Amino acid sequence: MRIYLDYNATTPVDPAVLAAMLPYFSENFGNAGSVHSAGQRARAAVDAARESVAALIGAVPNEIVFTSGGTEADNLGIFGAVAASQKSRKHVITTAIDHHAVLHSCEELARQGVDVTFVPVGRGPASQGIVDPEDIRRALRPETVLITVMHANNELGTIQPIEEIGRIAAEAGVRFHCDAVQSAGKVPLDVKSLGVDLLSISAHKFCGPKGVGALFVRSGTRIVPRAWGGHAERDRRPGTENVPGIVGIGKAAELARLKLTEDASRIRALRDRLEASLLERVPSVRVNGDRTRRVPNTSNLTFVGAGGEALLIALDLQGVACSTGAACSSGSTEPSHVLTASGLSREDARSSLRFSLGRPTTAEEVDHAISVIPAVVERIRALSPRTAPSSTAAMPAR
Ligand code: PLP
Repeated sequence: MRIYLDYNATTPVDPAVLAAMLPYFSENFGNAGSVHSAGQRARAAVDAARESVAALIGAVPNEIVFTSGGTEADNLGIFGAVAASQKSRKHVITTAIDHHAVLHSCEELARQGVDVTFVPVGRGPASQGIVDPEDIRRALRPETVLITVMHANNELGTIQPIEEIGRIAAEAGVRFHCDAVQSAGKVPLDVKSLGVDLLSISAHKFCGPKGVGALFVRSGTRIVPRAWGGHAERDRRPGTENVPGIVGIGKAAELARLKLTEDASRIRALRDRLEASLLERVPSVRVNGDRTRRVPNTSNLTFVGAGGEALLIALDLQGVACSTGAACSSGSTEPSHVLTASGLSREDARSSLRFSLGRPTTAEEVDHAISVIPAVVERIRALSPRTAPSSTAAMPAR
């Protein structure tokens, strides 16, 4: 039995999404920029996808710019908004736990002379992995041109107070970008109530194909493009449209919208069962991140005294796939920046695993994982130089 519990890294393409995409590789291969009927069929499909993506996030279709994924959407939103500002000195605010697609963009901005503030996040049990909006307010300066804060954190699942930050940004007249790559399809998204000017999503996180995403750009928000070419995406993102991919994100968005409520409650129940059972059966386990303000599918656990990489490999051999952090950081010896910023020691951060469930996850899979994980943890702990019991005595219950 192979059990995939790494849906925050990526998801399988839903069969209905694949079926919708397939004709656009073959009989409907037209270029959406062509005038003839083949081009018009492709254009109509792109337009329909734009409506569907807009509906998922409460936007209007012409506020959607298709991109090659979440990373490009983040880059376009961040660099595009900063370049569009007329200010001579520029300052950007982000958080210590944002995704590398945002953090590394901000670091590049800093190399280009923009000041960047990386706001820390809560470390206490009741707010671990959540930024305090007042800290964002305190970081504001007259030269601030952009606030960029993620919605759901990819490692902890914690949901950031985007509405409050949106109000702070609006009061200050500062553009607000939100990386919602990990919340699209997991929790309802409405760009109006979130108060964002720019918002990124990525199809492969909600049962769509890899390599396609979207940036919401509120009407009236100016961004300077990152690439130069033809007039696609209303001059904001040139290049021949990836029609099959765009059809894929459109279908995936439609399914996500229709199934969200049902998916969320079923997946939450399974995640809670997994978490509760592991807390009961494995000694010295901690849940990382605020437990109430979380997306329903994610559980990040520290198995005190057991190396995360060793656990990951041993679990994989038992057929259970999970993660030690962001997929792109796997294999690196550095502990997760999210976990250390959330107050974990480097050692505990290295002893943590992320389990993330998805639409295909079944109760049988969760039960099987529950039956396999305790013995694997015990074995890895026995092999580890630091033994768990010495660190359990003073451990707070979270
Ligand atoms: N932002 C977050 C929060 C993510 O989790 C990811 C992917 O892991 C990305 C951005 C990047 O998205 P993509 O893989 O589509 O480039």
